[in-house]
Amino acid sequence: MRTMLPANYYPAFKKYEHLKGNYGGSWWHQNKEFESFNGPILMTTNCLVPLKKDCTYLDRLYTTGVASYTDAVHIPERVNGESKDFEAIIEKAKTCSAPTEIETGKIVGGFAHNQVLALADKVVDAVKAGAIKRFVVMAGCDGRQKGRNYFTEVAEKLPQDAVILTAGCAKYRYNKLDLGDIGGIPRVLDAGQCNDCYSLAVIALKLKEVFGLDDINDLPLSFDIGWYEQKAVAVLLALLHLGVKGIRLGPTLPAFVSPAVLNVLVENFDIKPITEPEADVEAIMAGK
Ligand code: SF4
Repeated sequence: MRTMLPANYYPAFKKYEHLKGNYGGSWWHQNKEFESFNGPILMTTNCLVPLKKDCTYLDRLYTTGVASYTDAVHIPERVNGESKDFEAIIEKAKTCSAPTEIETGKIVGGFAHNQVLALADKVVDAVKAGAIKRFVVMAGCDGRQKGRNYFTEVAEKLPQDAVILTAGCAKYRYNKLDLGDIGGIPRVLDAGQCNDCYSLAVIALKLKEVFGLDDINDLPLSFDIGWYEQKAVAVLLALLHLGVKGIRLGPTLPAFVSPAVLNVLVENFDIKPITEPEADVEAIMAGK
């Protein structure tokens, strides 16, 4: 589910017949989707939504690592470098009903840096030929606020010569839209989980090198980031460290950014909040 979506693209996992595909969307749908999934759920990190009183999946909910939840079974840490013991989950799965189908279709993905760099010649040719005018990084978190529909609208309004680079749950706002491709290069290149934002930075640095640029900000590359919590903030700090300027953040600026800090970010990095999809798309395509 969710952040397991990238697992479907790992060649090493193709041999597992029971890895059937992605189930559901981003984290905030989990109260509903964990119910209809019917099988065991393993939480490995944050983004676990408190269970509702009448929920039916507490006995199928497992945690491990830093994640834990009252009355959910916790899978202990590995000992002496041995694998964790997931037997309890496997046995549980054998007693569960199959997931209730909630949607069908295909999602294109698997574009972590190795895969994109394997396409580098094709990508560079497309940029030089003018077939790709701009890359737009729309990575980060999703959330339940209505304002996050902004990212769906931006994806829909971006012209056909723009390619979206994504990672994290933010992509669920647009990764099921049919946005087509540019000469075989999908218009949404999904690097994977939020942690795979690393891949997006590697891709940007490689493009800078390939185009012989001194400044990452001279690339035809814009950042329109959906933020929610600490991981997205860590990604933002990494981008600032790389010298990226002009990042848009939405749907709102983090509340913990004090006016003084905001002033520093604006003055030194030209950070700005998102506005309206149409105006932002126009500005993004103009390199602003
Ligand atoms: S992208 Fe954000 S919301 Fe999604 S799993 Fe990662 S940290 Fe959680």
